[in-house]
Amino acid sequence: MIEVDDLTHRYGDAVALDGVSLSVDDGEFVLVVGPNGSGKTTLVRHFNALAEPDGGTVAVDGVSATENPVAARTAVGMVFQHPRDQLVASTVGADVAFGPENLGLSHEEIDRRVDDALAAVGLSGFEDERVHALSGGQQARVAIAGALAMEPAHLVLDEPLAGLDRRARDSVLSRLDALNDDGTAVVVVTHDLRGLASRADRVVALSDGRVVADGPLEAVRDRLAGLDVDLPVE
Ligand code: ADP
Ligand code: MG
Repeated sequence: MIEVDDLTHRYGDAVALDGVSLSVDDGEFVLVVGPNGSGKTTLVRHFNALAEPDGGTVAVDGVSATENPVAARTAVGMVFQHPRDQLVASTVGADVAFGPENLGLSHEEIDRRVDDALAAVGLSGFEDERVHALSGGQQARVAIAGALAMEPAHLVLDEPLAGLDRRARDSVLSRLDALNDDGTAVVVVTHDLRGLASRADRVVALSDGRVVADGPLEAVRDRLAGLDVDLPVE
């Protein structure tokens, strides 16, 4: 479970998060929406202790993310908004294996996870390709595969589907469904709810660093108007 209580984050004098409270239960599927600059990326970076609270607390599975960032990073897998920033190795296979290698898993288990994760994003057979020779969409899929290969308890994806073609998008979504069915909590940051809304237990909307709606889509739909969110047709 991820629990955020009265979280405040400032960049200099600018307040990016202003008393945000929310929780993500084990096995939940939650969408975080809101206009550009509303604080979505800043919020999810706190789940992974990549940012430090100016006020309030973040706990992952009952452990303070600030006090135990390694535990937070192990429990929460993250796909960043700019996936290129998270690619660390020169080949696709090495990149996806990097996280599992740091978990100290056996070679067989690492190979299984890499194969599995690449299949999930439609990149089977790309192990030896050079990451920098791939298209932006393919690089995004490598970044998603890297997070999948960690098999985290909670998976957070910041605008993961932007730049993916329809086939890759469908493939990633069906893997998220399968993981969620198996009990992984999934948090997706997006401005486009189409294709995602029906999967989500809850939608959390941010505006100007505050939570302005939190509930099932039909309960919050009216609150999303004017927030630059693409809604599915009723
Ligand atoms: P979102 O992901 O919803 O677009 P962000 O969390 O990226 O929102 O940004 C929230 C606010 O914080 C915005 O006003 C943005 O300009 C500001 N901000 C984000 N990152 C930085 C940074 N590294 N330095 C200064 N201001 C930042
Ligand atoms: Mg963002």
